[in-house]
Amino acid sequence: MKKSKIEWTEQTWNPSVGCSKVSAGCQNCYAEAMARRLKAMGTKGYENGFEFTAMPERLEQPLNIKRPTKFFVNSMSDLFHEEMPFAYLDAIFDIIERTPHHTYQILTKRERIMAEYFKDKILPKNVWLGVTVENSKTKYRIDYLRNINATIRFLSIEPLLDDIGSLDLEDIHWVIVGGESGVKARPMQSDWAINIKDQCKQQEVAFFFKQWGIWGADGVKRKKKDNGRSLNGKIYDEYPELIEEYFE
Ligand code: SF4
Repeated sequence: MKKSKIEWTEQTWNPSVGCSKVSAGCQNCYAEAMARRLKAMGTKGYENGFEFTAMPERLEQPLNIKRPTKFFVNSMSDLFHEEMPFAYLDAIFDIIERTPHHTYQILTKRERIMAEYFKDKILPKNVWLGVTVENSKTKYRIDYLRNINATIRFLSIEPLLDDIGSLDLEDIHWVIVGGESGVKARPMQSDWAINIKDQCKQQEVAFFFKQWGIWGADGVKRKKKDNGRSLNGKIYDEYPELIEEYFE
């Protein structure tokens, strides 16, 4: 397992790797590029490149970590991929239940499979469950998430690809927004992000602005780190636990 560079988590846990593209947000998938690179380097676990592969030998990794840790589950895949057997999902959730001192952040673009899997199940309390909403066309995923009884329900609006318009954030606890990275990144406009930030404030939902990516607020392409993380001159680093402080 690895420490993560993702701003809103601590470590990644990938009990499966590999995936396939389902919507516009997948176009420049970071995991795909990374998996191909790791395969070329002969890295263990990436023999199949970006093909979906269950990794049962990684299942027990969280059991060996005593310090309470926030894990992003499957940074290199989608936990609810079409080829993921429900029996293997059961084994993953068994580990999650047996490690209540950890927090597991799970994010999917496969809202229907997620809903089907949780239909008759009670989610462990240490799961934060999210869907990606990269544009106005994928807002429908929020309704699937809203109906699942997770402790924290969150949206990853990254890469933000268009003006998403109005958002119904009822029963949503946290929203993350970010622009795209990489040479083929598509630009994000600041008014699209500000619109979401304003709706989070109105609807009392924690808001986290992750990054601009490779296109800056001024519409100029430069190094990601030079574009920073400020939106309209302010850093937004809210987490769902902090929501009461944020709205004082
Ligand atoms: S769902 Fe995620 S991991 Fe899978 S192809 Fe799309 S962006 Fe990549």
